Amino acid sequence: MLEYAVKGLVLSRNPIGELDNLYNIYTDKLGLISVRGGSTRKITSKLNSHLDPLNLVFLRIVRKNYFRVVDALISDPTPGAKSEANRDYNLNIIESLLRLLESEIPDSDLFLLLESGLKAGRIRGTDILSHLGLDPAFSACPECGKPPIGYFLAPDAFLCRDCAKKFLHTSVWQKSFIPL
Ligand SMILES: [Zn+2]
Repeated sequence: MLEYAVKGLVLSRNPIGELDNLYNIYTDKLGLISVRGGSTRKITSKLNSHLDPLNLVFLRIVRKNYFRVVDALISDPTPGAKSEANRDYNLNIIESLLRLLESEIPDSDLFLLLESGLKAGRIRGTDILSHLGLDPAFSACPECGKPPIGYFLAPDAFLCRDCAKKFLHTSVWQKSFIPL
């Protein structure tokens, strides 16, 4: 059984099984991974509060068939969490990352971009997108063909502000848009 000590950014948390959670975590050494947290839905679970989405954590995990959490500790209380607007923006980014990233492709530069953004309060969406090869400067709105670009919609669309309005009124779509 392999054990890893990594830094990670918690992207999402979903219930699985009777008492467990499955976390999507972007890590410095392994890239995006899904990690199962045993009994983390028990009220007495100490791990679960450390594994809220947007938390930066130190993580010890083991792998046997799948990844499991051994230990998790918040590494840095994120100052941005205090601002509702920053929090919503950061949540949009991580929602999009889940649609953009493939599992287990390490990218320490991307991790640093996410980490430094969070520590400053707000992840820089345009930096993340251009790092991933998605530069709005080279794109036009697919709806009307015009610049300027107002929003990014994962996995690969840039929309202008006017056209984005057609989609933005539904909350289903809102979560996926990154304002630029
Ligand atoms: Zn347009």
